[in-house]
Amino acid sequence: MCPQHFHEMSTANISDFPYHDLPESVEIDLNHYQQKYNWDCGLSCVLMVLPKEDREDFLSNFAGICKDEGFNKSTWTIDLCYLLKRYKIKHVYYTITFGIHPEHATNSFYDTILTKDESRINRRFDNAEKCGIKIKTASVTIEYILDQLRFGPVIVLTNTQLIICDRCKFNKMKTELRKLIPCVPKFQGHYIVLCGYSANLRKIFYRNPTMYNHVCVMSMEVFEHARKSSGTDEDIIFVKTLENQI
Ligand SMILES: [Zn+2]
Repeated sequence: MCPQHFHEMSTANISDFPYHDLPESVEIDLNHYQQKYNWDCGLSCVLMVLPKEDREDFLSNFAGICKDEGFNKSTWTIDLCYLLKRYKIKHVYYTITFGIHPEHATNSFYDTILTKDESRINRRFDNAEKCGIKIKTASVTIEYILDQLRFGPVIVLTNTQLIICDRCKFNKMKTELRKLIPCVPKFQGHYIVLCGYSANLRKIFYRNPTMYNHVCVMSMEVFEHARKSSGTDEDIIFVKTLENQI
């Protein structure tokens, strides 16, 4: 058994959420985009939050824009910010690690891409402020995330092994099995887009680019594990597309 697993479980107790200041529920309409390859989940999330015209522009110039932006089949959260900036989408990126976390060098998920991407990513972090990209080095609470959903969708880096969907049963079987043989699954980075929540049900609504057009649902506890899993750096982008409508 892995003692770490139980430690993680106990830190994600959300039973005392102060929901009273938040709307009971929020739902944001998004146009779904299903990823085409195994490396474009982040780009698919950006496509889901872009206004129609920008989305069409990105899709019709996809290869050219990827080349121009400099990513070669591996996108980091900072890359998604530059892409949002390219389309003048207001957003704020929170992470607990400004730049590349030194521990990623020992993480097999980052192993091969790190050598290839390191200088490019560091350069992008260094130039972010100059380019008008807002990065805050902090861990955010679930309450803050729910509150920000009033202003627009939220792109989050998760460990895909830990996300489940109560509706389509995505990963459900794996999770059940893990209860029998508890162990921390290997990190596998995957971006999803949050598009609402229900405080009464304590559920979060999201779109998973792996899936065909569909709003997925998971409990807030499950979400907390998935986004705080070691390897995510708690990367999260608050997109402010609905800010002017409030
Ligand atoms: Zn689902």
